[in-house]
Amino acid sequence: MTRIAVVGAGIVGAGVAYHLAARGADVVVIDDARPERATAAGAGIIAPVSSRTSDDERSDYMFAAAAHYLELIERFEVGGLTEHSYGATGQLIVALDDAELVQLEAVAERASALIAQKGTVGIGSPEMLTQAEIRRRFPPVTTARGALWLPAVARVDGRNIRELLMTMAAQHGARVVEARAELALTGSGSDNEPGSRVLGVRAGGELVTADAVVVAAGVWAKDVAAETGLDLALYPQRGQIVHLRMPGGSQLPVLNTFRGHYLLSFPGDRVVIGATREDDSGFDAHATAGGVDAVIRNGFSLVPDLSEAEWLEVRVGIRPASRDGAPILGPVPGVDGLWLATGFGATGLTLGPYSAKLLAESVLGGAPAIPAAFAPDRRVINPSMTRR
Ligand SMILES: Cc1cc2nc3c(=O)[nH]c(=O)nc-3n(C[C@H](O)[C@H](O)[C@H](O)COP(=O)(O)OP(=O)(O)OC[C@H]3O[C@@H](n4cnc5c(N)ncnc54)[C@H](O)[C@@H]3O)c2cc1C
Repeated sequence: MTRIAVVGAGIVGAGVAYHLAARGADVVVIDDARPERATAAGAGIIAPVSSRTSDDERSDYMFAAAAHYLELIERFEVGGLTEHSYGATGQLIVALDDAELVQLEAVAERASALIAQKGTVGIGSPEMLTQAEIRRRFPPVTTARGALWLPAVARVDGRNIRELLMTMAAQHGARVVEARAELALTGSGSDNEPGSRVLGVRAGGELVTADAVVVAAGVWAKDVAAETGLDLALYPQRGQIVHLRMPGGSQLPVLNTFRGHYLLSFPGDRVVIGATREDDSGFDAHATAGGVDAVIRNGFSLVPDLSEAEWLEVRVGIRPASRDGAPILGPVPGVDGLWLATGFGATGLTLGPYSAKLLAESVLGGAPAIPAAFAPDRRVINPSMTRR
C-alpha cells in the first residue's frame, strides 16, 4: 500500500488526506494546529463568478471547484455527516454607484457566458435587480443601486468542512500526528544542496517514512519548501473579519461589492463582514483597530441596520497568497515524491477541496488534470499585475 504523509490539516490538507485515503492510500497527517491558520478565519463564500475579471482557465477552475462541493456534500450525507454548513443562500453582486452599475452589466455578461457553457450548477439562473426590487426582496440592503442575483451561490463554514473532511479521512484509516513537521530527504548534505528524494517527515521525535509527502501547510509551506532549496513565490496576507448578531440576519444572502468587501450570514442570525487583505502584515495575527474599523464601516455601507448588531468576535487568519494569484499545486521538480498544495490566497475554501482531489489523483499516478499555470516551479512574470 502506498504510504503518504500530508503536512498541514487546513481545508487543503484535510481534503488531500480524505481523497488519498478514500483511494486506498495509507495516510498520515501531520499538523501543529496554528491558531492563525487561514481556514479558521475564512468567510466561506463559494462563488464561481466574481466581480473581479479573470481569465477563462481560472473561471473554469472556479466553476469546477464550486460544483465539486455538491459532490462532497452528498458524500458527507451518505457517510452520515449531516451537520454540514453548506448552504445555497444565493449571492447579490451589488453596485453602489453609477459607475459600478456599468461594471455590473459586464459581470452579468460573464456569468451568462459561463452558464451557457457549463450550466447553472452552483450559480442558478442570474437575474438583474433594480434598487426597488432589492429593497423588496432583501429589506436590510438599502444602499444598493442595482445588483446581479445568483440564487444558487453557496457559503460554508470552513472550520466545519475541514473537520468533516478529517472525519472522513479517519473513516478511511488516516492517522493524525499533532506536531510540527520537517522534511526527511535523501541527498541533502547541506542547506544549499537540495535533496533528491523524500524519505518522509520528522515530527514529534518520530520519523514518519513515506513514499510521498504532500505539503499543504498554508503559507508556512514556504518554510517547508525552503528545506529543499525551493524559494516559493508565496507570502502571508492577513485577513481580519468581523462576526455580529442581528435579528433576522440569517436571511441575508452573500453580498459582494466592487470595492472588495462583502457580507454573508449563517444560522443563529450570525452576520459576517469581511475582510481586510493586508499584503504587508507579515505573520502577525493580531486584530488591529484600523482593520476592524474599516471592515465594520464597509458592512454598514451595505446594511446600515448593522450598527445596532451585537458584537460577537473578530477572527484573524493568514492567507497563503501567491505572488501571481494562482495556486501552487503539483510535484516539486528535482525532489522525487514531494508535492505542494498551497497558494490559494483569498479563494482557498472554494478551490481547496477540488484541488485536493486533483492532487490526490496525480500523486497516485492518475492522468495530470492540474492546470500547468499552477506548477510549483513556474516563473512568476509580473507579480504586481496579478496579485489579488
Ligand atoms: C478573513 C479571510 C476570509 C476568507 N474568505 C474566503 C472565502 O470567502 N472564500 C474562499 O474560498 N476562501 C476564503 N479565504 C481563504 C481561505 O480561508 C484560505 O485560502 C484557505 O483556508 C487556505 O487553507 P490551507 O489549508 O492552505 O491553509 P491553512 O488553513 O492556513 O492551514 C495550514 C495548516 O498547516 C499547518 N502547518 C503549517 N506548517 C506546518 C508544519 N511545519 N508542520 C505541521 N503543520 C504545519 C498549520 O498549523 C495549519 O493547520 C479567506 C481567508 C481569510 C483569512
